[in-house]
Amino acid sequence: MLNGLKHLTVGLIEVPSIPNPLLDLRRPGFDLTAPTELDLSPVQAEESREIDRLLEKGFRDLKFPDALERRYAQDHAEQRLKTLVSSGMLVTLLFNWFLMSDNLMVPDVFELSLKLRLFIFTPCTILGIYLITKLPSPQLREWLAMGTGLIASALNLFICLSSKDVLAGAYLVSMVPIVMFSNAVAQMRFSPALVMDSMILLMFGYGAWILAAPHNLPILLSAGFTLLSASVFTLYGCYTLERDERQNWLLHLREKVLLQELELANQHLDTVSRSDLLTEVANRRHFDEHMQLVWERARLDGSDISLMMIDVDHFKSYNDRYGHPEGDECLKEVAATLKRRLRRPGDLIARFGGEEFIAVLAGTPLTTAASAAERVRKGVEHLNRLHAGSPTHAVVTVSIGVACLRPNAPHASPAQLIAAADEALYQAKSRGRNRVFAFGTND
Ligand code: GH3
Ligand code: MG
Ligand code: MG
Repeated sequence: MLNGLKHLTVGLIEVPSIPNPLLDLRRPGFDLTAPTELDLSPVQAEESREIDRLLEKGFRDLKFPDALERRYAQDHAEQRLKTLVSSGMLVTLLFNWFLMSDNLMVPDVFELSLKLRLFIFTPCTILGIYLITKLPSPQLREWLAMGTGLIASALNLFICLSSKDVLAGAYLVSMVPIVMFSNAVAQMRFSPALVMDSMILLMFGYGAWILAAPHNLPILLSAGFTLLSASVFTLYGCYTLERDERQNWLLHLREKVLLQELELANQHLDTVSRSDLLTEVANRRHFDEHMQLVWERARLDGSDISLMMIDVDHFKSYNDRYGHPEGDECLKEVAATLKRRLRRPGDLIARFGGEEFIAVLAGTPLTTAASAAERVRKGVEHLNRLHAGSPTHAVVTVSIGVACLRPNAPHASPAQLIAAADEALYQAKSRGRNRVFAFGTND
């Protein structure tokens, strides 16, 4: 199988590595530095607990903790803006309809009401709508909308108080549609709605106090009850609407957090299933997948793939001498050295089995791979890890076989490349260990 492969013994050859833009192996699927801890960020975890607490305990005062409240307002801002603007436009028209009732109930101040409604309230509402679209804070928009309802009621009160007509007191009932419109059509948030309704009731009380007379007492009282009932009913509607909306939003958020948790768990499992637990480099399965991928890419773009087979020298006697746990520590240290020395994007280090590692260097010609292997060999030697049981060296060393193939060459296959690297390793071992031996077909 190795017929025709040239060999190259390596001294210190410094060949600059050749970056290959087509080989971006830093895609997430192959990131061994991906988080191995299954954990949400502290903020996410805290938020997740907060959501659970709120869902369990409820939120009768319709208020979330500050951060969640801001997010809730922001998430609904667009929808609320649409509702406020469309109901604002509707109210601009409807409020002028009152002119017909003004003419019937308080004809003596019709001219005044015409001026107030048409030339003051209408432009003010249009300006209000414009301001609402410009206000950055969703909360401020709600309070501005509430202001519109208050102004409308104050205007009706003023018209009633200005009239000398006997029906002026009864006409205070005109505050009812304002309450109903604001609470039910503009679907005001509960807090501003409560403030607005309370103030409208106070205005009504004030108007009734001034306009009360024996002839209109029953009608004033029934108008008062009508206003109170309309207010209570629609406020209850505002409350339940907002509570349900908040609850649905929390459930939706919880679902999102759960999905994130699931994704993290999957990422974690994926990382674990592709890495070697002892040395934390890729495992054989990951190596096979990676090899397939880089092979395919190199076949398309005509680049080289180099492979290093790295084997710890006399490791059996190291175990015998220092014990298996110390042997494990040694393997970890060797793996860490490999990781430190082979950091180019496109390099992948895997544990091939036992005390044997393999490194794939995509887009790398033989000479570059051989000098990288030499750096690795020196790196391990310079760990100065004593190996008193070794017949060849006083410290732990590795032998490295290097081979290179161009996947688009006829009959080239990953198995052939692995076999060549294995053969090179055998050569390095048989020539005395602690050395690099390189095979290649195309340098
Ligand atoms: P050579 O220089 O020819 O490679 O000799 P060697 O002793 O390193 O090779 P051999 O294949 O005879 O021995 C490999 C040893 O590696 C045997 C095995 O106990 C040890 N080994 C394999 N996996 C592990 C491991 O996960 N932890 C430890 N501590 N030792 C391991
Ligand atoms: Mg060995
Ligand atoms: Mg071995």
